[in-house]
Amino acid sequence: MNSPQSTFIPEHIAIPKPFYSDATGKPFERCIHCSRYLLDHNTHYMIEKVHKYYPELKTNDTIFEYAICIDCYMELRKSLSDESVQNLESYLNDHVNLIGRRQQLIQTEGLDIDGWIGSCMIKNKAIQACTEYQTICECMGNRMLFTFMPYMICDEAMEEMMELLSDKTLGFFDDFRNRFLGPSPEIGELLKPSRILLI
Ligand SMILES: [Zn+2]
Repeated sequence: MNSPQSTFIPEHIAIPKPFYSDATGKPFERCIHCSRYLLDHNTHYMIEKVHKYYPELKTNDTIFEYAICIDCYMELRKSLSDESVQNLESYLNDHVNLIGRRQQLIQTEGLDIDGWIGSCMIKNKAIQACTEYQTICECMGNRMLFTFMPYMICDEAMEEMMELLSDKTLGFFDDFRNRFLGPSPEIGELLKPSRILLI
């Protein structure tokens, strides 16, 4: 996938609650990798959250969440194998037209976040039907940008994407998770097999 950096200024809103840190109840303040402060107006970064839904309890848990600045994101992407990157790119190209999706959502949903993350970008599966899903957005300071993000990826698409990754890339994601998001045994268990980060 191309860099999320844009050459135009897209529509933006104040960071919405679904992309607040659940740990603090406030917007993310620091890059998970370099600790850079994120809420300055021209600091460019992304937020990823992985959620689990327990149908029997009808409750939702965020099993991990972080923000990462674009510089660290670009650096870490170099650690993925070429094979994995190519596989993921062709999977996305086969399943979603990112530019068309954005145009359509701007027209039909405007800047309503629920319309953008309410169903899977790839499978169109509704968020309520997912036992696990991830949400991703792109931000600049305290604003969330409407680029080809924000989007949601459902459990089924996550499974398919995992199968496209090389052992090297899976190992990298495991390592990233253990260094920055773990190691809680409970979370480690919930996240097996390794979940995609940073696509
Ligand atoms: Zn950083």
